[in-house]
Amino acid sequence: MSQIPNNNKLTISDYTTPMSPTWCPGCGNFGILTALKQALVKLQIQPHQMLAVFGIGCNSNMCNWLNVYGIHTLHGRALPVAAGAKLVNPKLTVIAIGGDGDGYGIGLSHFIHSCRRNLDITYIVHNNQIYGLTAGQASPTSDHGAKTKSTPCGVIERPINPIALALSSEATYIARGIASDVNQLKELIAGGIKHRGFALIDVLQPCVTWNKQNTYEWVKERTYYLNVKCQSSNVKSMSKLKCQMHNPADKQLAFQRAQEWGEKIPIGLFYQEERKTYSDEFNHLKHDEAVVEHDISQIDVSGTLAEFE
Ligand code: SF4
Repeated sequence: MSQIPNNNKLTISDYTTPMSPTWCPGCGNFGILTALKQALVKLQIQPHQMLAVFGIGCNSNMCNWLNVYGIHTLHGRALPVAAGAKLVNPKLTVIAIGGDGDGYGIGLSHFIHSCRRNLDITYIVHNNQIYGLTAGQASPTSDHGAKTKSTPCGVIERPINPIALALSSEATYIARGIASDVNQLKELIAGGIKHRGFALIDVLQPCVTWNKQNTYEWVKERTYYLNVKCQSSNVKSMSKLKCQMHNPADKQLAFQRAQEWGEKIPIGLFYQEERKTYSDEFNHLKHDEAVVEHDISQIDVSGTLAEFE
């Protein structure tokens, strides 16, 4: 991927490939892709200085439509691949992208350990509360009682709570957006990329084909904005019920907000703290140099080799 001359302002087209998305018309994935590109324009990140690592799912087909370096990995494995890339090349902007089944089901333990490790990675989860690519089975975030192809009598388990899980696993930037508010989502994603540490942006993303319960209307009726800097530009015109004051430095308050689900669903930045990243405490790594650039000419390995003679 070639560098775009620095005097050229990067635009949406610089992050767009010649191929068109094959998502179903109306899918929430379109809003997330637009918000992500707008966030990259806002931050002016060169495509050749960015890596997006994808899991498996409808969302992860985005690998073909986002013009940055991309890796389409195995189901649930985006985060460990992203971690490896960030560790060996700290100069790269690294994001991971997956869905609720991919990240909170198959890859759940990677998610928890990524939170507590606090590597400087942004994780965007397209949370449509269903397995879309495989045609409509219950996912870890499907609501209790939801009738799906795999649960004709209703889901028995209680859903995973990604925000509370990220809080208890010590992630340092935790947000929820909605695919229908591209403006707010752009700000949340840009905030996550700028944040130094592990950032989760869980996005409510209606699957218009397989999830007939958690629709755009369902999202609109329930969501309200946490009134912090990452808010929608149209928030001023909303009633007080749609916007409540919040302090993202207050972890207890964030936990309290994270419990809200059902009648009222908060969106925005729940929590942010500055904490050393994994790389900061790993003394063998340099923060401004890729491993491949390290000078190894003075390293003497003859002692080690002698052990195997
Ligand atoms: Fe989107 Fe659902 Fe269609 Fe997949 S199946 S592209 S998630 S609407």
